[in-house]
Amino acid sequence: MFDIAEVRRDFPILNREVNGKPLVYLDSGASAQKPQVVIDAVTQAYSMEYANVHRGLHYLSNLATDKYEAVRGKMAAFLNAASEDEIVFNTGTTEGINTVAYGWAMPRLQAGDEIILSVMEHHANIVPWHFLRERQGVVIKWVDVDSTGALDPQAVIDAITPKTKLIAITHLSNVLGTKVDVKTICAAAREKGVAVLVDGSQAAVHMPVDVQDLGCDFYAVTGHKLYGPSGSGAIYIKADRMKEMRPFMGGGDMIREVTKDAVIYNDTPMMLEAGTPGIVQTIGLGVALDYMTGLGMENIAAHEDSLRDYAVTKLSGLNWLQVQGTTPDKAAIFSFVMDGAAHAHDISTILDKKGVAVRAGQHCTGPLMEHLGLPATCRASMAVYNTTADVDVLIDALELAHDLFA
Ligand code: PLP
Repeated sequence: MFDIAEVRRDFPILNREVNGKPLVYLDSGASAQKPQVVIDAVTQAYSMEYANVHRGLHYLSNLATDKYEAVRGKMAAFLNAASEDEIVFNTGTTEGINTVAYGWAMPRLQAGDEIILSVMEHHANIVPWHFLRERQGVVIKWVDVDSTGALDPQAVIDAITPKTKLIAITHLSNVLGTKVDVKTICAAAREKGVAVLVDGSQAAVHMPVDVQDLGCDFYAVTGHKLYGPSGSGAIYIKADRMKEMRPFMGGGDMIREVTKDAVIYNDTPMMLEAGTPGIVQTIGLGVALDYMTGLGMENIAAHEDSLRDYAVTKLSGLNWLQVQGTTPDKAAIFSFVMDGAAHAHDISTILDKKGVAVRAGQHCTGPLMEHLGLPATCRASMAVYNTTADVDVLIDALELAHDLFA
């Protein structure tokens, strides 16, 4: 197990104050802070090693290309993909899911075909499917979570019909912290010839991911939550599905030859990476992956599980606070509302005065908020650098907010 004090020293921002108080950063579910190694890698890439990739025949272009392309192998190893050719770089999960929507689903699905979603999906895993509903008459089928926020994999499997073409499901809810048994869903889907896209934006940060063991077809991750730069990310596309992909965006890099009359596309994964990519962002993401694997994903998961247990005990002592998502198999992500009708935004403003950063609002999960019957929640989401002391500060700040609003 790593030394948490050392880990905290790796993140320079944790030394700063906010509103005159030491920063307690509990908004990593929105975006994670960056370790110094990532910041240094970005600086080094821009100051000494920058040029466009894949194009030049000069020293710097080759250097940048080598560094950029090395990340493909790192991401493949991080997700345990069978080959780095199954990794497509992008700006994050939103682009990854849109790549599947435009590049795989749109050319294949027809009116009446069905896509299954859980009610706790992020808008990034809802809106692209609404495009298909609006434009092609595809039907979206919703599967609810139970009162603890758990998702029964059998409920997803039972929703499959002969018309189902895709299940698009989160691996870990950004609001409830619920982990989803994706492996069971994938096994049943595979038997019925249904593809599974997994939104791994949150899960890949908090626990080891093995896409081959899960048996999914697509797995999307986002770099800025993985302690990497914003504007970086990747999607795993299983080799068999990769063969079925059509180009999504057109431009440079994704072609082999263009004439006035025709286009010959590049091989995948390049066919799905049009234009100048996030060169430095991706290089920074590679260093972030090294950082996480250096700590050990099992260790990160164990640290965060013990934080979760501590927070569950502490938060359950506040009988005027209702935590949304109480299933035991969850990550250290806590969304809550408070008695006394204080709006989530008001609570987060009070917490901010105490240096505690949380997110308030709908968290890009309109259907889940509808399901919960709530206009908004506050969310405290933890990461590798958080401690039980952070939880204590949160509890004190919540008590203050409750005193003010009750
Ligand atoms: N899916 C989930 C579960 C998320 O939490 C997020 C980000 O909050 C996304 C998708 C979208 O990620 P991005 O905005 O980085 O593309």
